[in-house]
Amino acid sequence: MRDKIVAGNWKMNNDLAQTEDLLSNIKKSYKKDQDVRVIVAPSFTNLHHAFESLRDSSIDVAAQNMNENSDGAYTGEVSASMLTSIGVKTVILGHSERRAIFKETDALLAKKVDAALENDMEVIFCCGEELNERKAEKHFDVVKSQLEKGIFHVSEGQWNKIVIAYEPVWAIGTGETASPEQAQEMHAFIRKTIAEKFGSELANNVAILYGGSVKPGNAQEIFAKEDVDGGLIGGASLKAEDFLAIVEAF
Ligand code: PGA
Repeated sequence: MRDKIVAGNWKMNNDLAQTEDLLSNIKKSYKKDQDVRVIVAPSFTNLHHAFESLRDSSIDVAAQNMNENSDGAYTGEVSASMLTSIGVKTVILGHSERRAIFKETDALLAKKVDAALENDMEVIFCCGEELNERKAEKHFDVVKSQLEKGIFHVSEGQWNKIVIAYEPVWAIGTGETASPEQAQEMHAFIRKTIAEKFGSELANNVAILYGGSVKPGNAQEIFAKEDVDGGLIGGASLKAEDFLAIVEAF
């Protein structure tokens, strides 16, 4: 049985006071009565606070990015060991905003994946096509290539530390969601692609999350699909009520 996961990607939102507020609202209403793993990913400045605040809960904390190098002369960057030193053991890598705005390449992401795994961190590895790529019917090729170049170099034994997030770029923050059928189709393709390289037993154990305008109103039908094992939630994770409604949609 693979994990069911709902992760909130707060992006560059929430100062310390807002972080405290959101965490306290989540903790107040969150009831761990189900089998869903819940993760929140605040900005770097609020990670330590979030980790301490959630220490006694079953909610995990993830970083949204990290540098591929170990500590050293990299002004402005944050290393894997810095994250693990404050208790953070999960990192989101390859988000489309990192790829598009900050020009992170597949090759760079492969190095970041290695740095995370060397530090015993779990990776939520994002992939997904842009609108023009879908229109040109290249979406399967694009996603396959992102997986092959960014994550397929890891060993079989490291896959228990990998979660995949499929996030079609055209559905991120746009209000436009992939239909449950489109999500299922791509998730099944991702699982098949992993199976072809690493075997179906391994592929069946990999959690594949959907991201892109997931809301309380559409989460249930998306999560109901066979190969959708949860969601990576942006905008709707900034309100405790909405985020928890999505968690409960499973
Ligand atoms: P969204 O973002 O839910 O606001 O579309 C998802 C993401 O970028 O992870």
